[in-house]
Amino acid sequence: MSFAINKNLEKVNASPTMVLLSKIGEYKQKGIDVIALNIGEPDFGTPANIIEAIKKALDEGKTKYLPVEGLLELRTLVSEKLKKDNNLNYSPHQIVICTGAKQALFNINLLLLNVGDEIIIPGPCWSSYIDTAIVVGGVPIVVPTKDDWQLDIQAIEQAITPKTKAILINTPNNPTGAVYTKESLEAIAALAIKNNIYVIADEVYEKLIFDDAIHYSIGSLNEDIAKLTITVNGFSKAYAMTGLRLGYIALPNDYLVEKFIALHTHLTSNSTSCVQYGGIEALVGNQDFVEGMAQEFKERRDLCLELLSSIPHLEVINVSGAFYLMVDVSKYFNTKYQDYTINNADDLSLYLLEQAHVAIISGASFAAPNFLRLAYSNSKTNLTKAIKAIEQALAQLH
Ligand code: PMP
Ligand code: GLU
Repeated sequence: MSFAINKNLEKVNASPTMVLLSKIGEYKQKGIDVIALNIGEPDFGTPANIIEAIKKALDEGKTKYLPVEGLLELRTLVSEKLKKDNNLNYSPHQIVICTGAKQALFNINLLLLNVGDEIIIPGPCWSSYIDTAIVVGGVPIVVPTKDDWQLDIQAIEQAITPKTKAILINTPNNPTGAVYTKESLEAIAALAIKNNIYVIADEVYEKLIFDDAIHYSIGSLNEDIAKLTITVNGFSKAYAMTGLRLGYIALPNDYLVEKFIALHTHLTSNSTSCVQYGGIEALVGNQDFVEGMAQEFKERRDLCLELLSSIPHLEVINVSGAFYLMVDVSKYFNTKYQDYTINNADDLSLYLLEQAHVAIISGASFAAPNFLRLAYSNSKTNLTKAIKAIEQALAQLH
């Protein structure tokens, strides 16, 4: 019997964020307390009004199949939200509710890419973009951003070929935390229009911006780019609903909507029914939670920057979005402590887990091999403890 599998899948790695999450679980079972700076998930509890709405839906028996595309009430609210917050014009019928933004993004690959089609992804980037394009036989073309993590328009222009199907824009960005400027998004829009390629706009971190940064939705810039823009967003980050798995996609024309829904009928069918009622409450309810969370993240970013600045040989760029800081750790490569040899960011991530009991993910699978990604989705007390422990562990390396 042959164990051969789908050739594309042979090249795919498990999501490193999820792998590290399991590893921390094993540590916890052994009674070792690990401070988690690894996972991109708000540490805040889901707001009580959302929980109540889900409980009420359950009590009312909302446990059956729904239309695959999601509750019309929720799609209508999403359409209104996109208009109000993002100046995007998608009717409720252009919106499909998905099981997290992750599923929406995976499905886009299935929807758009033929074998050999290219998708341009500014890097560093969220690891799932790369692997999910590969699953369907697509070719992810990671184009490095500039030193300040802003888009390198020239490099993106040079990367466009006749096989380019889409450019994936994630702002605010995972893993860099960069918020792309309006000018750079205008330049990307012009390139997409000129070359007739789709733009996939992943805006899941839109609510988490600080300082004077402004989030621009690329699909709102003009009517021509609106026709090419597929917008993805969700409830995980803005409403701390990660495990509830609720996201959505907004598609620019009826044909794409029809085919996306056709695909969806064969996959998950509708997203969990009672959770969709939680999504409705998230959008109609009080939004103070979201603002409070963004303010807290800003304070934590400032705290992390200050604490990291006193550690020798690290470099960090200040950024105004999401809840990530990319820490350049390359000066610690080719160092040793006892049995540990640090050749790369993966080695350092493992060393910090074992020696400092801090989980912080390597940038390797985010197309950032010289970096660790610090997710400051943890309390100020824990962030302080963790960064001090990192400092001590790094000091042992020679
Ligand atoms: N996009 C980006 C950039 C992410 O970091 C994540 C991870 N949460 C997602 C999409 C997927 O989010 P979810 O499936 O939880 O909505
Ligand atoms: N996107 C988050 C992260 O980058 C959550 C994990 C995941 O979905 O891969 O950590």
